[in-house]
Amino acid sequence: MALLRFAPSPTGSLHLGGLRTALYNHIYAKKLGGRWLLRIEDTDATRFVPEAVDGIKSVLSWAGLEYDFGPGKGGPQSPFFQSQRLDLYHAYAKKLLDSGHAYRCFCTPDQLSVKRERLARSGSKSTYDKTCLHLTEEEVARRVRAGEKSVIRLNDGETPPRAAITDIVFGPIKYSDAGISTDPILLKSDLFPTYHLASVVDDHEMGITHVLRGEEWLPSLPLHLDLYACLSVKPPQYGHLPILLNPDGTKMSKRKGDVQVSDYIKRGWEPAAVLNWLALVGWGTHHSVSSSPLSSPSSSSESFSTSRIDNAPDSTQIMTLPEIIDQFELSSLTHRRNALDLTKLEYLNKHHLLRMSSTHEGLESLARRIYLLYTSIEDIMNVILTLESRPTTVNDIPALAPFFFVDPDLASEEARSMIAPFSTLDRQQTLEAILRRLEQFSNEGSWDLLSISDMLKEENARLGLKSKVFNTVLRHALTGMKQGPSVPKTMTTLGTHRTLVRLRTAHS
Ligand code: GLU
Repeated sequence: MALLRFAPSPTGSLHLGGLRTALYNHIYAKKLGGRWLLRIEDTDATRFVPEAVDGIKSVLSWAGLEYDFGPGKGGPQSPFFQSQRLDLYHAYAKKLLDSGHAYRCFCTPDQLSVKRERLARSGSKSTYDKTCLHLTEEEVARRVRAGEKSVIRLNDGETPPRAAITDIVFGPIKYSDAGISTDPILLKSDLFPTYHLASVVDDHEMGITHVLRGEEWLPSLPLHLDLYACLSVKPPQYGHLPILLNPDGTKMSKRKGDVQVSDYIKRGWEPAAVLNWLALVGWGTHHSVSSSPLSSPSSSSESFSTSRIDNAPDSTQIMTLPEIIDQFELSSLTHRRNALDLTKLEYLNKHHLLRMSSTHEGLESLARRIYLLYTSIEDIMNVILTLESRPTTVNDIPALAPFFFVDPDLASEEARSMIAPFSTLDRQQTLEAILRRLEQFSNEGSWDLLSISDMLKEENARLGLKSKVFNTVLRHALTGMKQGPSVPKTMTTLGTHRTLVRLRTAHS
């Protein structure tokens, strides 16, 4: 049975490119009647971001891309974190040492940089001069016993001849690195494997049949094939997904717009539309869309992707994930670099919204999301706690304190009567003093009941105002109502942002 994998490194938030890789693995696995697993490639301790794993899992779950095996799910291939598979990499490294396909290298980083410079000056493309390849067995054993640090390198002069290979996306691969020897590192001195060794060992050990990954890994393919040949095991089938571009043809980068999936989630894009958008890039090109209630976007990516593959959908066809899987042709992927055009996402998103609102279930899920845009479960929980024993029934909660849910109506009879007895000067002074302090507060981040109460007391004393005046001015600005929880409690529950906005509104 086909088994694919999505193997992100937990080095930060997942990019669109990463989501596209996961999506294609999902589609391809379904298409082959197979499965896919999530493997966390956490072998680079210097770039490890602990919250990245949860981030990756939550993006996959937002997108509805459910892996068959992986963290939290289990499976015969476990463990799924490479940092928990070190013994396996050590065993394979030993195998390669024993067969003469690898050797220990004791060169220090300083020695290596001198060598690199020397090789570059002499016009060589190699980055290592193989000094340690010529050490005797006794010398190696002695230095290991003496506790000298070493890495394990592939002896690329000893790799078996490479067989011809056809990439699922790029077609027949030509090797252009003949004669360049770098003897790449497989196991680092901290006993962690490099990506190459870990990836090859895991793909083999986990029984991966197809590797679909980003085009940036295509240059590593010869090395990976060499490793399989040295280990005398059959490589999986490879497919490299072309790099995603901005509509102007430049490589996608943070500077040019949103590249992290979390940005798209925050901005409210539909997961179905984002998947639709990513799936179609590199699958077909734009063709005008007929009989649509919404205007079709212009296709600015055409200059990068000009030929259309027969039977491929056009790049604005509205499809849900099951429809994508159904229509997808394994042979229809193109290796042309494709631009992600936001106007297409806008178009797709509008249509997905229309489609969702045509069923009760879809409508209800949209309504829930819209509701949560204005408040959050945490906010409501805080309101319940703040109101303590005041409500008798649950319906009393929003009625007792509507200002926790909507902005206060300062033009109401009640609101106007609250501040009528006070002078404009007292009001302005109070609001300005607190606004000034709040600006500091939002930088320091100590937004809690105690700090807020202390701050209010200090300012009240400094201004020398009656506390009734001081509190009523603030209560009016924050709630527009005479009754309610204490001013510090109200501010704590409203949060910095809403408090600031309301005080500014009342001040202006
Ligand atoms: N860990 C690599 C990355 O995050 C994945 C490479 C692969 O799929 O082989 O890009």
